[in-house]
Amino acid sequence: MAAAKKMTVVQVAKAHGPWEIVERDIPNPGPGDVRVKVQACGVCHSDVLTKEGWWPGISYPCVPGHEAAGVIDVLGEGVKGWKVGERVGVGWFGGSCGYCDSCRRGDFAMCLVNREVTGVTRDGGHAEYMIAHSDALARIPDDVTPVDAGPLVCAGVTTFNALRNAGARAGQVVAILGIGGLGHLGVQYAAKMGFKTVAIARGADKEALAKKLGAHVYLDNGTQDISKELQKMGGARIILATVTAADAMTQSIGGLGIDGQLLVVGAGEKPIEFNATQAISFRSGVRSWYSGTSMDSQETLAFSALSGVRPMTQTFPLEKYQEAYDAMMNSTVRFRAVITTGH
Ligand SMILES: [Zn+2]
Ligand SMILES: [Zn+2]
Repeated sequence: MAAAKKMTVVQVAKAHGPWEIVERDIPNPGPGDVRVKVQACGVCHSDVLTKEGWWPGISYPCVPGHEAAGVIDVLGEGVKGWKVGERVGVGWFGGSCGYCDSCRRGDFAMCLVNREVTGVTRDGGHAEYMIAHSDALARIPDDVTPVDAGPLVCAGVTTFNALRNAGARAGQVVAILGIGGLGHLGVQYAAKMGFKTVAIARGADKEALAKKLGAHVYLDNGTQDISKELQKMGGARIILATVTAADAMTQSIGGLGIDGQLLVVGAGEKPIEFNATQAISFRSGVRSWYSGTSMDSQETLAFSALSGVRPMTQTFPLEKYQEAYDAMMNSTVRFRAVITTGH
């Protein structure tokens, strides 16, 4: 029998273990799955969940990466609607059970039984090939490159889908707290969706970039009273919190206007404080948003192609994953580290 062909992957063998670059057999897709020849995969802060074991149901050794873009290479048995050679993205949403109350309601992202997460509960895209459920695939438009598509199916869908589901109307004040991997996309989406877009970050040096991304107003939370500044504009309908620092959220929440929402997509550990009296009198509050399905990713990609929204990226070869991960963790990357496989 001929030896199975090998591929290079990044893996972590156990919780808190180091990242390793290893050779594995190229896997074959089971029923309902496809094999994707990975071209690019973004490095996300959530890769830390896989490394440290901070998510239930990780089976080690595990390959991280849930911002993958590539080409369908092999179809598993019974796969419908997809062809070999199609360009696809595979994001955080890795599949759902299909039979729980949420799934039967059509709310697959909120699956209660088997919420599969790419690169967390199943092997992800920091590899030359990956296996994905066919319902986890998002079509990539022709004019979006793999390096751009990768971050759009996680950082992109997280901010785009949060903003489009939050109920704000064109012209209303939408503030984006933080200009990083998520925030630099959030600012672009908010501006392209027609909101009065306010970018909030630390330091005067980020103003030029924020304006270039489409922000109408820039606020520096190192020197300005954010709540007061937002109230001067009539109050924010949404503050999209892309940072993980709870104190930065607490500091901004007083800037919410009528029906305002602090919309949290950055997962920090510390509690957020808010003034209940002000919240009640403005009907405002705190809400969070959880990524989206593969169809939400596909619509994120389509909207990005249409409107020109793109991530700012820095690429690293697969073998340099550790370097990319460190750059992401130390926030030295502007703004998304993306692994390329050479495919
Ligand atoms: Zn992510
Ligand atoms: Zn389900």
